[in-house]
Amino acid sequence: MVDSLQLREAFRIKGIDEHLVDVPQMYLGLDGHILTFPVRKGRIVNVVAFTSDRSQPEPTWPADAPWVREASQREMLDAFAGWGDAPRALLGCIPAPTLWALHDLPELPGYVHGRVALIGDAAHAMLPHQGAGAGQGLEDAYFLARLLGDSRTETGNLPELLGAYDDLRRPHACRVQRTTVETGELYELRDPIVGADEQLVGEILATRFDWLWNHDLDADVAEARLRMGWEAHEQIALRQG
Ligand SMILES: Cc1cc2nc3c(=O)[nH]c(=O)nc-3n(C[C@H](O)[C@H](O)[C@H](O)COP(=O)(O)OP(=O)(O)OC[C@H]3O[C@@H](n4cnc5c(N)ncnc54)[C@H](O)[C@@H]3O)c2cc1C
Repeated sequence: MVDSLQLREAFRIKGIDEHLVDVPQMYLGLDGHILTFPVRKGRIVNVVAFTSDRSQPEPTWPADAPWVREASQREMLDAFAGWGDAPRALLGCIPAPTLWALHDLPELPGYVHGRVALIGDAAHAMLPHQGAGAGQGLEDAYFLARLLGDSRTETGNLPELLGAYDDLRRPHACRVQRTTVETGELYELRDPIVGADEQLVGEILATRFDWLWNHDLDADVAEARLRMGWEAHEQIALRQG
């Protein structure tokens, strides 16, 4: 978290457009990207700087290594050596950064076992590159709440209900997990087709999240209700007036 007045001053000294303080920004580079967005009515700027080690295809974090540790500003600046004035000035405003390991889950083969269902990060923890992890957890909760809250839910039809949850929510959440990894590659100029073509990166990002943001969750709920035979019930009730 950086005080926006301090950041504005740092940008002014370097002749950097101060407007960048007021709007969300993503600075992209090879194997790294920096995300900034104003919070608390613009008084504070939230900064997350990512670096990726792509030397291993499936990196694993040592079991005894802490997931979060203090880092020095020098270590952080060294990780972004050679970056432009704006990101360097930005990082210069963070005297005591912390370093977080990022973890995700593989796509699970199932979210349901008997009467137990996984939702949220327990089911589909993902990298944060689409800002969608909590949103997916909320979608799981909404979907289940709409079905479990129905007066026709009972012990006998619970397996069918949870089966519908698994069938409808899991492919979607897995797609979000998968595309989140790919989005990180795009941000860090490692997409196998797009690479460092800045214009193409911009064009792709302009619409890349549409399917995710505009997903019709109520249509999934309706599909589940149809499978439970509830829509038919409602249609009959409507006809009966
Ligand atoms: C850097 C970063 C940025 C992110 N940005 C975004 C974003 O912009 N948008 C977005 O939608 N998502 C974002 N996410 C993802 C989001 O934070 C998670 O997807 C979300 O917090 C998951 O919620 P959850 O309730 O499923 O799990 P959690 O938040 O992990 O909650 C699980 C809770 O269970 C508790 N718990 C664990 N074990 C036990 C136990 N045995 N008994 C009792 N309690 C227990 C834990 O302490 C924890 O409080 C980001 C994540 C990271 C790391």
